[in-house]
Amino acid sequence: MPTSDTTAIAQPALLGYCRAGFEPELAAEFTERAGALGFAGYARTERGSGFVRFVCDDADALSQALPFRDLIFARQKLVAFAELPSLGVVGPAKPDRVGAIVAAMQATLGTPTLHFGDVRVEHADTDEGKPLAALARALGNALRPALREAGWLTYIDSPDRPRLHVLLESGDYAHLGIVDPHDGSEWPMGIPRLRMHPQAPSRSALKLEEAFLTLLDAKEREAWFKENMHAADLGAAPGGWSWVLMRNGVRVISVDNGPLAAHLIDSGRVEHLRADGFVWHPKRTLDWMVCDMVEQPRRVAERMATWLREGWCRRTIFNLKLPMKKRWDETRQCLSLFEREVGQPVEWRAKQLYHDREEITVFARLRG
Ligand code: SAM
Repeated sequence: MPTSDTTAIAQPALLGYCRAGFEPELAAEFTERAGALGFAGYARTERGSGFVRFVCDDADALSQALPFRDLIFARQKLVAFAELPSLGVVGPAKPDRVGAIVAAMQATLGTPTLHFGDVRVEHADTDEGKPLAALARALGNALRPALREAGWLTYIDSPDRPRLHVLLESGDYAHLGIVDPHDGSEWPMGIPRLRMHPQAPSRSALKLEEAFLTLLDAKEREAWFKENMHAADLGAAPGGWSWVLMRNGVRVISVDNGPLAAHLIDSGRVEHLRADGFVWHPKRTLDWMVCDMVEQPRRVAERMATWLREGWCRRTIFNLKLPMKKRWDETRQCLSLFEREVGQPVEWRAKQLYHDREEITVFARLRG
């Protein structure tokens, strides 16, 4: 008999994955947004852990009231239903992690039904989490047939059904949660696997590619990128974002005093303008303006608002570089300033992308 105590703790919570080091921002976001929606609860996290639990009796209803798309610092959103704090404690016998997880599900969720369409065993995207990748893979492979046998998992993966997530905090400690596939990230660990293209002038290209995939849906991508549309790229050098726009058929005015990769200019679809991105503006409305200028976030937010208000662009994607401290406060203040300065109904979506470091990416357009 194993000596481990594999008793599950059933404490409902909204659980979000985030960039390591940004747990205070996600905790503040959960706390403030849940409070504004009338949900009582508190955030539990450890700095550097890569995830936050917002403990809340009605985590299910809170999750519905707080769509994944509206969360800025969350890479994934789970309705967590159980914690297993001593999953792999080694006793005289081999730890039975699969058995412990199946038992925890029965103890917390009740009678098994053919409920889940898929299962993912994941670890946090942290230096401590990475060595758990092999265990996560092996556990996923072992768990799948056991869950099917116990009646928890469909025999064929059903992408429209809720997905079971097991987050390994360590080899001993697991969090169990549910992701609604229509209200969460489709990518394992909430991380899109994008490959750097050899022609891309900088790694920043991945940021804009991820922004298109994360902040826009498939219909919007199709409607908003057409051959020979026009865009401006402010703070363009060496040209990663301009290159992504160009690959989507768009003609680009790349504004930067720095040098641009020669093959962009040679393409005939990119014009390099050596000008100040806070001063220059086009004479007619462009389909897009993107901006990656390294500047005070409030100054950027204000300038982006001016572009929309003055009708210089239809849509924009821009980055806000965050300060070292009080990053949640700064985020909120920048986005309020942006809304105020646009002065008209504006739709915006913001996310800290996987390829973002100390920054967030915002998509915005005027409503209607
Ligand atoms: N998005 C670019 C890419 O994909 O290759 C990288 C941009 S880099 C992070 C920031 C750029 O902003 C720098 O090339 C810098 O010269 C430019 N920049 C900063 N302030 C600017 C300003 N006032 N006007 C124009 N460009 C500016």
